[in-house]
Amino acid sequence: MLSIKLIFLAVISTVVVTTYAQAQRTPNAALKSNPKVEAAHTAIHTPEDALAELREGNLRFLDGKPINTDYLDQIERTKSDQHPHSVILSCLDSRIPPEIIFDQGIGNIFVARVAGNIEDPNILGSMEFATKVKGTKLIVVMGHNKCGAVKGAVDNAELGNLTQLVDQLKPAITGDKSNPDLMLTESAKKNVELTIADILKSSPVIADLVKNDEVKIVGAFYDLSSGKVMFME
Ligand SMILES: [Zn+2]
Repeated sequence: MLSIKLIFLAVISTVVVTTYAQAQRTPNAALKSNPKVEAAHTAIHTPEDALAELREGNLRFLDGKPINTDYLDQIERTKSDQHPHSVILSCLDSRIPPEIIFDQGIGNIFVARVAGNIEDPNILGSMEFATKVKGTKLIVVMGHNKCGAVKGAVDNAELGNLTQLVDQLKPAITGDKSNPDLMLTESAKKNVELTIADILKSSPVIADLVKNDEVKIVGAFYDLSSGKVMFME
């Protein structure tokens, strides 16, 4: 009788351990459907929808009420394919992670980052993939205040490959040198405008999509002190 009890206990233990192990390996075992996430995901069909979601996402971030933070759920939803609504070109600066400041998490936005948020053929190719191949509706070029790359251009910084990078920012330098902070801000905003113009000039693929109202391209400016994004429309 004792041996039968032991066998029974061993079988039950094996079943419990196996089930627990499977649950640990399968994130969707613990998924909870979030109606707010579902609503935001299914409501984006136009460039204006995408822009509205980024505006709302930044407000959620500022309010400390993000909804796109269940990363395991987002991995599960996007494991077979991706359909991000926006592509964002932002600065390398570690204080500006677009996925966080727009409360988008995993799978909702393409992000390209380079010091000074400038385009080059690799960035353009990536944006063409995002818009033409994956159907992304919105391109955002986002600069920020107190940008080290813009300051490097103003100060004629020289270091290895960085020299040619800051040289590309020099056409954007504008404003009064006696007010360095304001000058950096004005130059960074000018850099966003010039980058957008360069993207449209250098990519007929994107220019056509924008002309046909299938894609919108907008500038944005991030404030390092507040976390707030201002769209330059
Ligand atoms: Zn920067």
